[in-house]
Amino acid sequence: MSKITGQCLCGAVTYSTESEPLRMAQCHCKACQRASGTGHMSLAFFKEEDVAITGTFSEFASVADSGNENIRGFCGTCGARLFGRNSARAGVMAVAVGTADDNSWFSPQVIVYNKDKPAWDCMDGELTSFDEMPPPPK
Ligand SMILES: [Zn+2]
Ligand SMILES: [Zn+2]
Repeated sequence: MSKITGQCLCGAVTYSTESEPLRMAQCHCKACQRASGTGHMSLAFFKEEDVAITGTFSEFASVADSGNENIRGFCGTCGARLFGRNSARAGVMAVAVGTADDNSWFSPQVIVYNKDKPAWDCMDGELTSFDEMPPPPK
């Protein structure tokens, strides 16, 4: 994969990575629905150290039903959702793929929190899905 670059809506925050995603997923949990204002978040996970970020973003922490802290990063100016971190997975960060300049490389491997998926948010029925959050891959 070539370099991935992206930015928030106003352009104050940008990021880039030359790494392959560790994992690609779509999450329908209620927190992702509230944070995104839509039916799911499309997320690519990278090693935190492999993603270069410019600009200042804000963070909001909430507690997931697993008891882990989920920290969502967003642009304080335009409100675009950019990044995510979870206290259960130190050193790993999620990138909200809609913010990538080209996101045609995204190919979700799993759907998580399928139990919260709204009926109107149509997904590929062939994809592996989990009612909640599966254990992290080895
Ligand atoms: Zn912005
Ligand atoms: Zn979620």
